[in-house]
Amino acid sequence: MENFACVRTQAVLAENAYKYGFILRYPMGKQEITGTSYEPWHYRYVGEEAAREIYERGICLEEYFE
Ligand SMILES: [Zn+2]
Repeated sequence: MENFACVRTQAVLAENAYKYGFILRYPMGKQEITGTSYEPWHYRYVGEEAAREIYERGICLEEYFE
């Protein structure tokens, strides 16, 4: 069950991190934009306002700064 717990934790993080100002730095499906493949463990603090917009728009940090 270790693997299940890990996946579950990642899902909880991915859905809630923005509330605390964190975003997934290299999200799935954004590899061509970020230049880095999906990293489910890699979070970055951007502040609550930016994190909420990035989460709600489903964009990555590069797209946010465009
Ligand atoms: Zn990383």
